[in-house]
Amino acid sequence: MNALDTLMDLSSQMTLEHAEEARTEPAKPGCFTPKEQRAAFIHPAQLPNGKSIKLLKTLLSSACERDCFYCPFRAGRDFRRATFKPDEFSGLFSKMNQSGMAEGVFLSSGIAGGGIRTMDKLLDTADILRKKHGFKGYLHLKIMPGSEKDQVYHAMQLADRVSVNLEAPSTERLARLAPHKIFLEELLRPLRWVEEFRRTVPAYKFWKGKYPSTVTQFVAGGSDESDLELLQTTQWLMKNIRLKRAYFSAFHPIHDTPLENKTAVNPMREHRLYQASFLLRDYGFELEDLPFASDENLPLHTDPKLAWAQMNLIHAPIEINKADKRELMKIPGIGIKGAEAILSARNVSKLRDLSALKKLGVIAKRAAPYVLLDGRRAAIQSFMF
Ligand code: SF4
Repeated sequence: MNALDTLMDLSSQMTLEHAEEARTEPAKPGCFTPKEQRAAFIHPAQLPNGKSIKLLKTLLSSACERDCFYCPFRAGRDFRRATFKPDEFSGLFSKMNQSGMAEGVFLSSGIAGGGIRTMDKLLDTADILRKKHGFKGYLHLKIMPGSEKDQVYHAMQLADRVSVNLEAPSTERLARLAPHKIFLEELLRPLRWVEEFRRTVPAYKFWKGKYPSTVTQFVAGGSDESDLELLQTTQWLMKNIRLKRAYFSAFHPIHDTPLENKTAVNPMREHRLYQASFLLRDYGFELEDLPFASDENLPLHTDPKLAWAQMNLIHAPIEINKADKRELMKIPGIGIKGAEAILSARNVSKLRDLSALKKLGVIAKRAAPYVLLDGRRAAIQSFMF
């Protein structure tokens, strides 16, 4: 097999559980040529700064000695495994980068010879890429379960983003998905080290003089956990270790795994979890604001922000001319930019009708039932919509 065939093998086997960025952040139109769109291993991704790039997502090796119940790479599963050596992969990626085929890379691996040894191979690969090939683009490095503290530090010196997939929200839940992963010691502890380094080591010591961001991923529904459990852990991570975001991958059964007969989770659940996690992270919502049903799950049929407004604002609309930023952002149709635009516009004159809100980038039709404009309920003006 040549190197490109190996890459095809490794990348095409990568499932959504291993490829968070590539799935939820679509590239802007025009980012890809038709030929590149056909390349299975290059995916559109949007960076935190909003830039769209062509991201190679792949594994260094699809050989794994662990036996996570949901995973296609688990030990003992019968399929063709493939492995790159660090210099092979970095050489191949460098050529792809120079030809313009891939602008960034998300690199993970199956575990062979333990988490520490596997992490060393990922670090060797990243070192060669940065130092020998002079790659300065986006690099997301997965931190292997059980990595040592100095390996985490080294990863932070090479990568724009580092991640550890928690997979489940707690020790008990993880035991139902991956009985040989240790939630606190192997998975959470490396994430805590990242934050410890961010608090104690000056930024110039890290890649491009910045602290890398941290993300994690959960297999939503894989351990029969509730949305409340997932979001409790997500909120804790955001508050305590400055997690940039959590990715949620709706469980789907993989043939020839212990969970092959478990029912797939509705992908809409994934969507609602994203919406709720953004409300917690960016919109000033607390867990108790979210509209959990008695089973501790979010309703699938309603946007959680809209559901909150139906319960809390429909009979107590918010005065647009007096509300602070946090109150404004709780109104459906008003995002962070919209709230800031309202605050600026109010300094000039009172906002008295929906057309004024619309000019500020607010989805006025959605906001209308929940706002007062200069003391009066917003009238729906059909000409606007
Ligand atoms: S450690 Fe678990 S999730 Fe990761 S590749 Fe191995 S079996 Fe899959």
